[in-house]
Amino acid sequence: VGPNAGNMFGHPKGLFLLFGTEMWERMSYYGMRGIFVLYLVAMAGNFGWDMAYFGIDAAAEGAEKAFQTALQSKALGILGIYAFFVYVTPVLGGWMADNVWGQRKSIIVGGLLMMVGQFSLGMPHSFIPGMEETFLWIGLIFLILGNGFFKPNISTMVGDLYEEGDKRRDAAFTIFYMGINLGSILGYLVVGTIGEKINYQYGFLVAGFGMLLGVLLQLALSNKYLGNIGVEPSAKQLKGESAASNAPLTSEERDRVKVILIMSFFTIIFWLGFEQAAGSMNLFAKYRTDLVFFGWEMPASWLQTVNPIFVIILAPIFAAMWLKMGAAEPNSPKKFAMGMFFLGLGFISMVMAALQIGDSETVKAHVIWLVLAYLFHTMGELCLSPIGLSMVTKLAPLKYTSLLMGMWFFFSGVGNYLAAWVGQMVGETGPLQAFSGVAIMAFLAGICLWLLSDRLVDWMHGAEDSHPQNM
Ligand code: GLN
Repeated sequence: VGPNAGNMFGHPKGLFLLFGTEMWERMSYYGMRGIFVLYLVAMAGNFGWDMAYFGIDAAAEGAEKAFQTALQSKALGILGIYAFFVYVTPVLGGWMADNVWGQRKSIIVGGLLMMVGQFSLGMPHSFIPGMEETFLWIGLIFLILGNGFFKPNISTMVGDLYEEGDKRRDAAFTIFYMGINLGSILGYLVVGTIGEKINYQYGFLVAGFGMLLGVLLQLALSNKYLGNIGVEPSAKQLKGESAASNAPLTSEERDRVKVILIMSFFTIIFWLGFEQAAGSMNLFAKYRTDLVFFGWEMPASWLQTVNPIFVIILAPIFAAMWLKMGAAEPNSPKKFAMGMFFLGLGFISMVMAALQIGDSETVKAHVIWLVLAYLFHTMGELCLSPIGLSMVTKLAPLKYTSLLMGMWFFFSGVGNYLAAWVGQMVGETGPLQAFSGVAIMAFLAGICLWLLSDRLVDWMHGAEDSHPQNM
């Protein structure tokens, strides 16, 4: 089914177009996320979030500290709502692509909506006095809708480049995942630096232009490199191919969908912990970590690049390692379980950071704890996230591919939402308790998945027997 544009590094050239498009989109997405809470806290005055707004008596003892806690909690709450809905809409966007628009049109629409969203956030406050919060929410709504049309559909197209059973699929998702992370590094560095060092609004505007680049790239090159992939909605393709397109799912297909849903469910716990990165770990970096090097203070958002840098270094190593293991390669549920264990280890590192600062308001934690935490979180991510995307495209019945991809992201949205709630808990109970709690939860989830893994593989009905010759 693939286009005839030839190969590059052993993969269809279309993969690298999808890589580039997704890179610019993620530059925009993560750039904005990296500065978003910092922006809300810094501009609180313009939004009218002062002590009176939170019902704090300015003359009371400890008013400033109570105000900061309330403000951070408010900012994390908004991040949480955004991060939740941004991954709810992929269900809708996936459905639209499967049934009406096809993936190609969906990602163009989605990209343009997200661009408008960034521009709305980027409106300089001096132009919109009194309307700051209106423009904030309009921006978020456009980003939320746009991501729904974009994110699941670009991911399913990666899978569409390969025939069923093509062994290169997992590797393709690993390469694609590197594009995602190259984009987020760019975003944190460019948007983060402009945002924190010059003006947050300019940061959002630059994020909007990044999104525009992704759309232009897609418009210019997709006909050449993607052929007809994603042009027709899959429901229509099926109608053309067989009269049985409205047939109910077979029991095998139902089992496979069940596996997607169960595994997705577990990812809630993963993202709940992992997504502390933009929230509580970002604030921990900014306010509780020593970021002064040779008299120069590093922008906290730069630490957000640690995770994507590790992804780019480790992704090829992980991919090679899985291949090398041959028949001993763990199945997807076991990889997911390993992801959970790594997540837990990352939070043990955060517990160490919390122990180092103890009750003190002035002692700052060493940055190494955060770096180690991000290292473990990245190892976990690589056991779970690209594997999950590939799994969805392997297991989903064709007419539901984009929809199920949307579901996959929906669960990560639930994780993102709970992440904000955990982040607020970090503010209330202190980092020590909250981070140990997450660590314990991650280990328990990992154990459950490990125990369930054989059953889950049975329900895949052979979709994962990649080494039958060795059995
Ligand atoms: N970092 C990945 C991405 O942006 C995973 C996101 C997710 O599934 N929540 O695509």
